[in-house]
Amino acid sequence: MDIPLARRWLDAIATAVTSQADYLTQLDSAIGDADHGVNLNRGFTAVRAALDGFEGATVGDVFVKCGSTLISKVGGASGPLYGSAFRAIGKALPGPTCTPDEFGTALQAGLDAIQRLGAAAPGDKTMVDAYGPAVLAYMKALSASSDGGFVAATAAAAAAAADGMRATIPLQARKGRASYLGPRSVGHQDPGATSTALIFAALADVTASAST
Ligand code: ADP
Ligand code: MG
Repeated sequence: MDIPLARRWLDAIATAVTSQADYLTQLDSAIGDADHGVNLNRGFTAVRAALDGFEGATVGDVFVKCGSTLISKVGGASGPLYGSAFRAIGKALPGPTCTPDEFGTALQAGLDAIQRLGAAAPGDKTMVDAYGPAVLAYMKALSASSDGGFVAATAAAAAAAADGMRATIPLQARKGRASYLGPRSVGHQDPGATSTALIFAALADVTASAST
């Protein structure tokens, strides 16, 4: 990963979040307060603006800028959570490029930041249920590939995040607003797990097109 690819990833997230904003908000209206799409659209649109003309010296600078922007622009739970994740990813990447291994370590640091801040465990029906499996699948695909396949690892991460997203449907929420519903949160897909799946799908897309 280098600075241009990092920027393309964030730009692809902004595009995905804008086109899926209504869907994310609709999911949040079932078990939350109907603002997840609005929150992320505002956040990543601000990230796009903040990165326009921003001269980062390292891959990490780009992600730290993204994280700080999300924290300052998004009021809901997801802003500080995603913001902390991107800041942690950025802090783990101090060079102008990073290897697939280093990027995997950074993704793990992002997950750690989400769990430190939000205290959600796997199975609590949150973004952690998509993010956790994505990191595991990324690491596994990387260690299985002989050529350090970044493309295969990000594709595996995207597939695992989508599986994790779907697996939130039968769960009862134990964190965030959805937890106020208790058993009535069962049967609905978690909005944050859905946006996390979009984020990893965007990563797989830009990684695949960079390699061709
Ligand atoms: P809010 O809940 O403040 O309205 P959003 O609607 O933007 O914020 O985001 C809701 C999503 O945030 C949930 O679907 C869930 O995935 C995630 N979330 C909420 N609380 C937590 C938490 N403590 N840990 C991890 N993720 C959480
Ligand atoms: Mg909400």
